[in-house]
Amino acid sequence: MRRLAPYQTGLWLAEYLDIRCQLCRVYRSTSSLHTASHSVINNTVFAKLRRNINQRLNSGLLCADCHHSIAWLPKPFDVDIAAGTALTIQAATYYDYPIRQAIRAFKHHEDMIKLPLLMHAIRQLPRPHGCHSENSVIVAMPTTNQRLLKRGFDPVSILSAQLSKHWQIPLWSGVERIDDTLSQQGLTRAERLSNLDNAFAVTQTPPVKRLLLFDDVATTGASLQALGRAFLDSTAVAGVNPSPTPNLYQIFAYALAHGSQS
Ligand SMILES: [Zn+2]
Repeated sequence: MRRLAPYQTGLWLAEYLDIRCQLCRVYRSTSSLHTASHSVINNTVFAKLRRNINQRLNSGLLCADCHHSIAWLPKPFDVDIAAGTALTIQAATYYDYPIRQAIRAFKHHEDMIKLPLLMHAIRQLPRPHGCHSENSVIVAMPTTNQRLLKRGFDPVSILSAQLSKHWQIPLWSGVERIDDTLSQQGLTRAERLSNLDNAFAVTQTPPVKRLLLFDDVATTGASLQALGRAFLDSTAVAGVNPSPTPNLYQIFAYALAHGSQS
């Protein structure tokens, strides 16, 4: 993680120095801050500015209007990871404008300007009930070395580091991605699942029983499903009992955004 400094500086600036909304600053031609400096006696503008500052002090990186314009916390959905065992996936928001554009710019063009908006979205994820630093770890969706080399940075690890800070739950990285076959993009659900068979290898025993999986975008949930299965399969291989023991781990899954990749 040699590239921590630039994005951390950007986040710090966005959080503490830049009191403009991280969304309408980008997508609107004027900002309330700019207008305020030219309308000294305009009380409504000051009132709006004050609201924006209050919103920011409440850990918001967006103004209240922009915050409410995005449908936060989609309904969670389940995927099966073993017979009778479902993995529940909760996303912070939908993979739609403006989050979709921000994720793409961040992921594919390393656009750190978009990170505060994504950070704001991550902060909408409530810490799972009963989970804390002593009994839970966050498991970021691993990438392959090939992808890391090609892309030069790992967007999911940066986002999961922010989630770790938000929840005060440590990251754990004892699982590796061993496939580097096809991108999941554009595949049917059946193709995604078969593509993901044996994609992950659990290389260490998790230190706790509660595993909070995290990925940037969940579409069908196939990647998180395969990652969850890898933990259940690892207990089947390592344990005396040849059948998977689903109750060994409590696994939950989270994503920044839920929606279609198309
Ligand atoms: Zn705004």
